[in-house]
Amino acid sequence: MQQVQSLTAKSNLVRTASATEFDRPTTPPCDWQTALKQAIRSEQTLRKMLRLPPRLPKAKIDAPEFPTFVPLEFLGRIEPGNPNDPLLRQVLTLPDEFDSVDGFDADPVGDLDAIKTAGVLHKYDGRALVITTGACGVHCRYCFRREFPYAQVGDAKESYRHVVDYIAQTPSIDEVLLSGGDPLTLVDEKLFDLITQIESIDHVRRMRIHSRMPVVIPQRVTSALVDRFRQSRLTVWFVIHMNHANEFDWAVADAVAKLIDAGIPVLNQTVLLRDVNDNVDALADLSRILVDHRIQPYYLHQLDRVRGAAHFEVPQAEGLALIEELRKILPGYAVPTYVRENDGEPSKSPLTPSGSPRRQ
Ligand SMILES: *Cc1c(COP(=O)(O)O)cnc(C)c1O
Ligand code: SF4
Repeated sequence: MQQVQSLTAKSNLVRTASATEFDRPTTPPCDWQTALKQAIRSEQTLRKMLRLPPRLPKAKIDAPEFPTFVPLEFLGRIEPGNPNDPLLRQVLTLPDEFDSVDGFDADPVGDLDAIKTAGVLHKYDGRALVITTGACGVHCRYCFRREFPYAQVGDAKESYRHVVDYIAQTPSIDEVLLSGGDPLTLVDEKLFDLITQIESIDHVRRMRIHSRMPVVIPQRVTSALVDRFRQSRLTVWFVIHMNHANEFDWAVADAVAKLIDAGIPVLNQTVLLRDVNDNVDALADLSRILVDHRIQPYYLHQLDRVRGAAHFEVPQAEGLALIEELRKILPGYAVPTYVRENDGEPSKSPLTPSGSPRRQ
């Protein structure tokens, strides 16, 4: 409990600290695998540790296929006793998850149709996305893959042979995205073996790592990991996932700096979420802290309409208005592209105000 409080006090500094001034603890963090083991796995424990009232005894809360999972590193950035904390909202199961809402279903963006072979989603020209594992470093309640049937069709963990064969047989693929789940929950041996196999395919030029681990368990970014990327013949790009400035702390700053100092560009994607970041201040603060740390805001995603996430949805018109406001106060490179994914389209679709005047 005390640990939670002191870490929270530190995270308050983040909001005002300059780019380089974060309070660092004197003891080093545990290793990342221990961090995964120590993560909170029950909604009741999460409530208890954060001094939140227990849920009503009658409330039906049980999501066995997508249970609570919150590492202590992330928990430490949540303000105890505050049910509206923007980080808490991302990880706390609310009864709303069990409401059935029209238009929200298990496979909102047609992922199942895009599976070319076990473990490969190939929707867009030139880029193939590898489902490396079903495991994540945190369970985000709004996750669009929360119902993805990893075990049956998508999880390539057992063998990457099909993945590698598919990419090798498809010369148009010059970029491979490692995604999941979270590819950085794989142990180095397994991850490096996959990378080595991808490197052996001549037509692949770039590898993109999509991971929330540098944010939720930043000690995952070890020197060994960074060295492996640095040594790759592929150009490595990194995409992290952060929705609110409070997710940033000294350890996240260190992890990201290690990657960028090794020559790896780091982008961030954000999901627009009700009661998390659906206001100009939250989005502007996030963008500022990102660019302060050399991270380029990439996409602001309109929520994918997955079952259980309806209470996170912000109407598109509101999102457009927010982006317009951001454009007025931030440098151009700090404004993410607002996109939505529409099943069957050849790319993510940028959202722009309809009827905006076009110059001739
Ligand atoms: C989002 C996505 C990509 C990457 O799209 P970019 O616009 O290049 O970031 C690739 N494959 C799949 C299946 C995706 O969903
Ligand atoms: S880390 Fe990404 S894939 Fe994992 S639960 Fe969160 S949003 Fe979903």
